[in-house]
Amino acid sequence: MPKLPVSILGATGIVGQRFVQGLHDHPWFEIKALVASHSSAGKTYREACSWKIDAPMPAEIGDLVLGSLEQKLPGRLVFSALPSGAAREIEAKLAAQDHVVCTNASAFRLEPDVPLIIPEVNAAHLSLIAKQRESRGWPGYIVASPNCTTTAIALPLKPLAEAFGLRKVVAVSMQAISGAGYPGLSMMDVMGNVLPFISGEEEKMEVETKILLGSVEAGERRPSTVEISAHANRVPVLDGHMVCLSIEFEEEGSIERVSGVMRAFEAASPYYELPSAPDSPLVLHDHSDRPQPGLDRYANEGMSVVVGRVRPCPSLHIRMVSLVHNTIRGAAGGAIMNAELLYGEGLLL
Ligand code: NAP
Repeated sequence: MPKLPVSILGATGIVGQRFVQGLHDHPWFEIKALVASHSSAGKTYREACSWKIDAPMPAEIGDLVLGSLEQKLPGRLVFSALPSGAAREIEAKLAAQDHVVCTNASAFRLEPDVPLIIPEVNAAHLSLIAKQRESRGWPGYIVASPNCTTTAIALPLKPLAEAFGLRKVVAVSMQAISGAGYPGLSMMDVMGNVLPFISGEEEKMEVETKILLGSVEAGERRPSTVEISAHANRVPVLDGHMVCLSIEFEEEGSIERVSGVMRAFEAASPYYELPSAPDSPLVLHDHSDRPQPGLDRYANEGMSVVVGRVRPCPSLHIRMVSLVHNTIRGAAGGAIMNAELLYGEGLLL
């Protein structure tokens, strides 16, 4: 099978670099075009990009010359790591030109006809694609990945929602500085400090989690009725967003059952066959001081969410800690897996 040509928008940024890393040797997709802002157009990727990944930049990618958003992109599939403001106009334009846009930007996540997808959580929401194309008159379409912190909440909650039902969740995040992109935050704000506010983040954690855990019926989203209270904090960690979760179920489950349900959570066929799918979407740690971003963020190449400290909660039912690699499963890796799902479902050709 020839590989599908793909383009990466926002290719020089922190998430764009993870797209390059995840796609340069991909079995189904081949990078054919890289695009960033106007100021990078015409430069080689090596010149334009301040490479921040602790593995070498793939040599053949470094030689590619960055294109501009005005030129026609090769192939149908486009990965977007654009800032949300730019994404709004550009992604819509591309979908109108018959491109399939798998995006990490928040611009379209809450649009009722745009699937917001984690393959193991809500692949059935892809049914919204038909509605999107019809209502907007686009030959192409947009599929969005959730906010990075939301991924650390929705993935472990999915099997628990199915087993016990969810009533209330309190989620307190400790988010890495790479979540703000590059160059991102000022060192004076971050070093030796905790910032108790990340603009828009708490709303995303609350609203997107309900969408992911909800259903789509007759072309309409039916978000989960779980009550979620989110607190978002920025901490001086390079990569890896951690979230402390307190959960109240509809039907209380013992710690053993709760742990067992998460341990047994496996991607249903055919999702486990996707090239980027980890062996298990959730990795459970028994050790009392795990997960830690420094030790656990690369679990299954950064594609698993790592959960630990599952214990009783004196106020709600249980407490636990969840960790996601924010730029891999929480961003580029998640969007690549979404594209693999589309390919597997015959929605890319
Ligand atoms: P970033 O490091 O600031 O990178 C932004 C990229 O977009 C760069 O390639 C930049 O190109 C390009 N760009 C900036 N303005 C542009 C414009 N007007 N038109 C076209 N391209 C433009 O940001 P990031 O952290 O990679 O985030 C990218 C997107 O992913 C954002 O929507 C963000 O919310 C989302 N996201 C980020 C994370 C994370 O952990 N960082 C997680 C989930 C989702 P130049 O180099 O030429 O300026």
